[in-house]
Amino acid sequence: EKPTTGLKIVLVGDSAVGKSSLLLRFAEGTFADLPATVGVDFRVVTLEDVRGRRVKLTCWDTAGQEKFRTLTSSYYRGANGVIMVYSVDDPRSLSHIESAWLEEARKFVNNANAVYMIVGNKADLSPAAVPTAQGRRLAERMGALFIETSAKAGAGVSECFIELVARILESQPEPTSL
Ligand code: GDP
Repeated sequence: EKPTTGLKIVLVGDSAVGKSSLLLRFAEGTFADLPATVGVDFRVVTLEDVRGRRVKLTCWDTAGQEKFRTLTSSYYRGANGVIMVYSVDDPRSLSHIESAWLEEARKFVNNANAVYMIVGNKADLSPAAVPTAQGRRLAERMGALFIETSAKAGAGVSECFIELVARILESQPEPTSL
């Protein structure tokens, strides 16, 4: 039996950038073009092997509170990974990561080893209003990981979560083996 590591992942970002769709694609491999989806509270996904470990992810979705651009401290508390999503068709959603979401997350996450990842979603829309290099530059400034995804086409989504988890496992102190 492989040891299982439990991790908390939170998704943040402006309304309608595709947070719920990313999670749905990751957890169930599907896309539903529903207007104004109300996200579920969280989804649990088990990855059988990341760097030799079994990883149980509890991924938190905002269920709409992010419209008011503020999530509660319990949403963030103890997160191991923070996925900050913008949409490549909405430049403001990228600038809000820097001007709002990052600061809120840093204030409440409460875990010095947390790993941050910036995700440019809706990469199937082209030409993109936000060039890839712009998202990547912000990520570099923040010391965050970066990837572009399309929840709709299913591109980059599992890579996003797997890269994040791999980095979290590297940055965590080794669990004691008995
Ligand atoms: P949330 O409010 O951030 O959770 O965003 P949703 O997941 O509810 O998605 C908002 C809208 O964007 C919905 O109409 C989705 O169908 C659409 N959407 C989500 N992801 C993608 C994507 O990768 N590509 C495209 N073209 N549309 C997407």
